[in-house]
Amino acid sequence: MRIFGDTPVVSIQRDGEGWRLTTPEGQVHARRVLIATNGYSSEDLPDWLGGRTLPARSQIMMTRPLTRTERRAQGFTTPIMSYDTRDLLHYFRHLPDGRFLFGMRGGVTAHPAEAARTSALLRDHFARMFPAWAAVEAETEWSGFICLTGSSAPYIGPVPGADGLYAALGWHGNGVAAATLGGELAAGLIAGAPTAIPALMRQPPRRFPLPALRRVALRAAYVWKGLMDGPMPRAPH
Ligand SMILES: Cc1cc2nc3c(=O)[nH]c(=O)nc-3n(C[C@H](O)[C@H](O)[C@H](O)COP(=O)(O)OP(=O)(O)OC[C@H]3O[C@@H](n4cnc5c(N)ncnc54)[C@H](O)[C@@H]3O)c2cc1C
Repeated sequence: MRIFGDTPVVSIQRDGEGWRLTTPEGQVHARRVLIATNGYSSEDLPDWLGGRTLPARSQIMMTRPLTRTERRAQGFTTPIMSYDTRDLLHYFRHLPDGRFLFGMRGGVTAHPAEAARTSALLRDHFARMFPAWAAVEAETEWSGFICLTGSSAPYIGPVPGADGLYAALGWHGNGVAAATLGGELAAGLIAGAPTAIPALMRQPPRRFPLPALRRVALRAAYVWKGLMDGPMPRAPH
């Protein structure tokens, strides 16, 4: 099998019995195509996807290794991965090598100004939740897009009305295990093997109401949920 990576599909068109995928580097013909673009989906690849997905930014920072004394100073030493009970939750864990990983949601675009704002907010929330480590340097930080759908559920199945096109996406921030399993289920479906796709994942995602405004609605939801969650602890001096 040949894999063509690092080259985006820019169009998907009917081509006889199958589909023609065009990339800047060339074209590929395929009888069956799986759309697994999740938080990086395009509105028109294929057109059916338009208005059905909503990318949301998730952002993570990782400190340098903490010493045992530093870990004890904060009183949070469990190696178990954890998250808090806020709607706009924070997720965090000590890694086996002593580094501490801390992440949260925020931002709805990849715009550099928004990335910088989310990064500053992440650092601020980290300092408020773990004041003993407020001055600890972050070794690295990264972010990406998770995928919400208009049905609030993932989808594995055929693209309606497009014979040979399939989709597996909409993992809502929990795709590390679920999308891996979803890939296996999608492969079985495409190969015509018996598959046990959960009923929740068999309904094609609905379009968001007023799809053109869904990013604005998500921003408003962040503000509202932030208010409902209540203030963060005070920043350390
Ligand atoms: C910061 C962060 C933290 C996260 N933490 C967790 C966690 O703790 N647990 C968890 O379960 N999940 C977590 N997630 C979510 C998880 O990463 C995703 O659910 C998972 O990666 C989805 O896998 P996927 O293969 O469906 O999509 P992705 O891994 O997003 O892959 C989609 C691919 O499609 C490609 N693509 C898009 N358009 C095109 C095109 N036109 N042509 C060709 N290729 C295209 C993209 O380049 C990308 O490689 C996190 C996500 C982020 C961003």
